[in-house]
Amino acid sequence: MKAAVLHKAGDALAIEDAPTPGAGPGEILIKVRACGVCHTDLHLISGQWNLPKLPVILGHEVVGEVVEVGRGVGNFKPGDRAGVPWIYSTCGACEFCASDREPLCPSIVVTGFMVDGGYAEYLKAAASHSLQVPKELSWLDAAPLFCAGLTPYRALKISGAKVGETVAIWGIGGLGHYAVQIAKAMGTRVVAVDVAAAKLELAKKLGAEVTVNASETKPDEAIRDFGGAHVVVCLAPAAEAILQGFAALRRGGTLVLVGLPKGNFTLPILGTLAKGIRILTSGVGTRQDLREVLALAVQGKIKTVAEPCRLEELNDVFDAMRQGKIAGRRVVTFS
Ligand code: NAD
Ligand code: ZN
Ligand code: ZN
Repeated sequence: MKAAVLHKAGDALAIEDAPTPGAGPGEILIKVRACGVCHTDLHLISGQWNLPKLPVILGHEVVGEVVEVGRGVGNFKPGDRAGVPWIYSTCGACEFCASDREPLCPSIVVTGFMVDGGYAEYLKAAASHSLQVPKELSWLDAAPLFCAGLTPYRALKISGAKVGETVAIWGIGGLGHYAVQIAKAMGTRVVAVDVAAAKLELAKKLGAEVTVNASETKPDEAIRDFGGAHVVVCLAPAAEAILQGFAALRRGGTLVLVGLPKGNFTLPILGTLAKGIRILTSGVGTRQDLREVLALAVQGKIKTVAEPCRLEELNDVFDAMRQGKIAGRRVVTFS
């Protein structure tokens, strides 16, 4: 099969022939129809984290048609539409799996990182952690929901944001364009912060009440000027966004960290305590969160803004992403 293979951190992806996998017990084989391009893949290609498997096929927003079903699989049959997220599998038995926190499972296996992902014509997946893709959603619209939709959904869900409260979102890229819509659907007032004017225009169209260009204005001051944010969700792959987001919070506010810039951050202890700030982190989400995101999309409450690209164009797509030039999501599609 044709695949985009990462041989070494720092290299471009090689578009080459790779062995087509088969479905073992408990597994399904998917003919990939679409795979969204997540900024996390750019972090992986850049060598920001150690890569446990090399060579590896990246890609963790995968949807396609089931073509083979392994022994013991009861939830899929050939011809079904399946989707595969970042979480390839978990143990199902630990305290985290048993308590709505499966992303924390110590035995987690990650798609497109620890096992091969969806930048390929075929993907083998665990049936237990794959989901049915509703027929109302096109392949292009469905694929990015599996990470870019899921992740801000979970982050906003755990943030505790209430109707009428102000939610400020830093980084209106793939994740952010859904975050704006999800926060709006929750009945909050949405402030969108980015460094690119085109992203802020998109945020306005998708329901942001206020937009702030952090390359022109100090975003924390702008947000404090109208009362501060009850919740800040940091999706930007930029460390300064965390400090700015923190400074934009109201007393009792909640900072949710999602974006994965390199390095560390420092926050003032007294300022954090005196203002009663809660600091949370959020990583992807559970299968149940994903079902809820898919339902929101079927109801038309969140829409995917995406452009298709070919597997051969992936390296150019990552260049464009590095330069912050992609609005919404770019999605590799296969005919
Ligand atoms: P993206 O490239 O599509 O979007 C990033 C956006 O951030 C762009 O619009 C860019 O202009 C904006 N930005 C850059 N610097 C900024 C700054 N200083 N202030 C405000 N905005 C800024 O990326 P994405 O796919 O949406 O991913 C965003 C981040 O989230 C990445 O770091 C990714 O690895 C991470 N991520 C985390 C999880 C998780 O589970 N925690 C899941 C998926 C992605
Ligand atoms: Zn992702
Ligand atoms: Zn577990």
